[in-house]
Amino acid sequence: MPVRILPIGPSTKITQTLVDDAADPITLERILRRCIQDGECLIWTGGRATQGGYGITTVNGQPVLVHRAAYDAFYGNLPEGSLGHESSSVEIHHSCINRLCASPLHHTPLTRKQHNQEHVELRMVA
Ligand SMILES: [Zn+2]
Ligand SMILES: [Zn+2]
Repeated sequence: MPVRILPIGPSTKITQTLVDDAADPITLERILRRCIQDGECLIWTGGRATQGGYGITTVNGQPVLVHRAAYDAFYGNLPEGSLGHESSSVEIHHSCINRLCASPLHHTPLTRKQHNQEHVELRMVA
């Protein structure tokens, strides 16, 4: 794959590595181009869902949650058609507690039960 320089300043290197390792590099790059780096996090700067404050974008013309789309673009293993729905059999938790973070390295797949438990422990609302 040709090396391209992504226009996001200090995170260029991290982002290029993520894109190179992604199951769907085109989608992941498209998402990460619209993020800015904050520490280890890649913060989505595009649209947000009215509920929950998660980043929202489109993949194949369908509205999707940015963190789910980024996770799936990197690992390629979320259930078909579930990118727009946090309440599927696999929920994606932000281990960095920043719900606008699009870094797949900060996303942990959990069952709903595990996810609820995690949030209770973190005292995190969503
Ligand atoms: Zn993060
Ligand atoms: Zn969570």
